[in-house]
Amino acid sequence: MEDKAFCILSLGSNMGDRRKTIDGAIAILEASSEITDLKRASYYETEPVGYEDQAWFLNTCVSFETTLEPLELLDLTQSIEQEFHRERTIHWGPRTLDIDIITYGDLTMDTERLTIPHPRYTERAFVLAPMSELTDIGVPIPEDKAIRRLPDGI
Ligand code: ATP
Ligand code: MG
Ligand code: MG
Repeated sequence: MEDKAFCILSLGSNMGDRRKTIDGAIAILEASSEITDLKRASYYETEPVGYEDQAWFLNTCVSFETTLEPLELLDLTQSIEQEFHRERTIHWGPRTLDIDIITYGDLTMDTERLTIPHPRYTERAFVLAPMSELTDIGVPIPEDKAIRRLPDGI
């Protein structure tokens, strides 16, 4: 039997039909034969971090088991970002879709293409709040940015 890793991804969008984009991205993940037991958190509307003169984000997290290796998972998430015509000119600026790998089992790695766990996630309420619905986050959720959990089904 192949080894499986329990992973958490963060998904965010602040351009176009944010919900349709994120739902579409999750549907592609779910369709992969190498991803099983996918669970999704609620949606959160969040104030931008980094470059603040832009629309609020819609954010969520998913967890799943995968047989993909870390770089294969990054290839998949980056191909999904491309599929949704991600365009970006400003660092940390508006984008149709951002998918970040937050954790991959208990792996730690730091290479040019991929750092796991994601180096900035413990500072980010927009990651930690949805992530806390899926797993024990082990750190407090920062309160410096506005964040609002959207009711289920909306
Ligand atoms: P941040 O990483 O601060 O959230 P960002 O998501 O806007 O910023 P991107 O432009 O999406 O940054 O990614 C830049 C590069 O980060 C990607 O090309 C990818 O190779 C690299 N990267 C390193 N670690 C990760 C990770 N854990 N998840 C996703 N991308 C990563
Ligand atoms: Mg990001
Ligand atoms: Mg990213």
